[in-house]
Amino acid sequence: MSTFDIYDLQFLYNICPNYYRFMGRWGTRLANGGWWVGGVAKGDHRWACQTREQDVFMLLISLSAYQTSPANINGTHSPTATFITSRRISNISVITKTITMVIASSLISPTSTFFLQPKKDVGLSAFSSTSALSPHRCHKPASRRICCSVATPQQSQRQPSTTGSVKTAMTMTEKILARASEKANLSPGDNVWVNVDILMTHDVCGPGSIGIFKREFGEDAKVWDREKVVIIPDHYIFTSDERANRNVDILRDFCQEQNIKYFYDIKDLGNFKANPDYKGVCHVALAQEGHCRPGEVLLGTDSHTCTAGAFGQFATGIGNTDAGFVLGTGKLLLKVPPTLRFVMDGEMPHYLLAKDLILQIIGEITMAGATYKSMEFVGSTVESLNMEERMTLCNMVVEAGGKNGVVPADSTTYKYLEDKTSVPYDPVYSDQQARFLSEYRFDVSKLEPLVAKPHSPDKRALARECKDVKIDRVYIGSCTGGKTEDFMAVAKLFLASGKKVKVPTFLVPATQKVWMDIYSIPVPGSGGKTCSQIFEEAGCDTPASPSCGACLGGPKDTYARLNEPQVCVSTTNRNFPGRMGHKEGQIYLASPYTAAASALTGFVTDPREFLQ
Ligand code: SF4
Repeated sequence: MSTFDIYDLQFLYNICPNYYRFMGRWGTRLANGGWWVGGVAKGDHRWACQTREQDVFMLLISLSAYQTSPANINGTHSPTATFITSRRISNISVITKTITMVIASSLISPTSTFFLQPKKDVGLSAFSSTSALSPHRCHKPASRRICCSVATPQQSQRQPSTTGSVKTAMTMTEKILARASEKANLSPGDNVWVNVDILMTHDVCGPGSIGIFKREFGEDAKVWDREKVVIIPDHYIFTSDERANRNVDILRDFCQEQNIKYFYDIKDLGNFKANPDYKGVCHVALAQEGHCRPGEVLLGTDSHTCTAGAFGQFATGIGNTDAGFVLGTGKLLLKVPPTLRFVMDGEMPHYLLAKDLILQIIGEITMAGATYKSMEFVGSTVESLNMEERMTLCNMVVEAGGKNGVVPADSTTYKYLEDKTSVPYDPVYSDQQARFLSEYRFDVSKLEPLVAKPHSPDKRALARECKDVKIDRVYIGSCTGGKTEDFMAVAKLFLASGKKVKVPTFLVPATQKVWMDIYSIPVPGSGGKTCSQIFEEAGCDTPASPSCGACLGGPKDTYARLNEPQVCVSTTNRNFPGRMGHKEGQIYLASPYTAAASALTGFVTDPREFLQ
């Protein structure tokens, strides 16, 4: 590491110490000799820093809080934004190399590809000859109408101003934001005040958001709508860490004070089942509790809020400052993102899961490839995916910098929602003439099982090409890979193999419902066995209490936390240094099939070895 590289890391710590600590990203060596350090923070500030060569420093900063804060509109910056901005400027002078700086989301334009970085030579070498993806730039309006024949299942109670015949062709994301901002039409780059349908927060960001809300609106202020605020403790729950426990107490006090309708509380940490209200990981709980509805706007103080795009909803992560404002007003100023369209066709091979699809995409466009862009997923393969698989797809768009991911609602969506919500919803679909910034096409039938190697989700490699990588453990869990269908996939592979795991295999159901499914739903072809029985026979650890668990490390006593510099195959979504605990740990992101196959061999393993 050169002196210059050390400067970069110190610089990151200076501008965003919380990000530095929580996300644990210390920098990844690029193939060209530079360092990659950066990504998406918890929403107040999104940034990416890259040293491309020893004499070039590039800094991209997108301050959503800065640009959307009402204080900023009036010419006075919010404290958070001021801090970051001033630190940024003062630190720039420290770095004497060439600097390119961009305030990303304020400069993005409808047709600009300014932020679409040239394809990087990171983790792509294995694909130089085998990749089945051929990105195709679409310079003219897309000609395909998406799901236009699907009937709306419920009568809309909204004003039809922007949902009927449109004067200007728009994408799904543009339409949702147009309706939410009561505009007839919108274009990428427009800044609009959006009416929020649901605001979600959790135990990590909730206390901060509540503090900002009270400071700005007053100690006695009431939230804008007690039925539209959803508060879900899920991150640091099963721990003796007093500060983590205090965070849940703060949420509880606030929900009682505000009479919040949807608070999924936990009081008895010794037995999660004694807490019927407790759910678990927020993004999965949101779906299971019917808060994800087509055509609506869902904001959450968590970067993976984008998961809900699987329901044809505009869903994105915001910071505490923005959340504090939404709590008081129910509105937020958002910039309309341009849309990238991903068309996935072809029969999905039985050994692939949605995790493979999104790893393929991120590996192709890189971690910065969708910065402040909407990612719309369409095609016959997407239509064939169940809702949990669509959630996996949308969950990881933020790993490519995406503002949101979105899948057109269809009969699969409506079926899932049938017993989950009685709230009327009104889906929207991209117009035939809608403008997409780029279009990427996949023949899914030609894809192979993938992993993302340490330490970046875009370090894509074929699982079979990593077969010599010895591993120490496997982790099945999180909002990405801890859903019922994920555990069913793991059980299916174990069942097919008839073997026992060779490394410790940790199972953390995302929610209480997933936990119950594991213990109650028979696995097809097993003669009536449940996942839990199959896991026990395979030698796995007993399924743990539902929560985020070790997905983001957490306090030292977090179950399955990576406390040693070990190699882990994980169904989670991020593999930055320190993400699951130890900063020298190595995380291979993989599908539940690949993770299960790897558990059986003790090496990164292509699931085709066991799935005939
Ligand atoms: S499971 Fe992991 S990625 Fe998902 S919300 Fe929890 S910490 Fe974040």
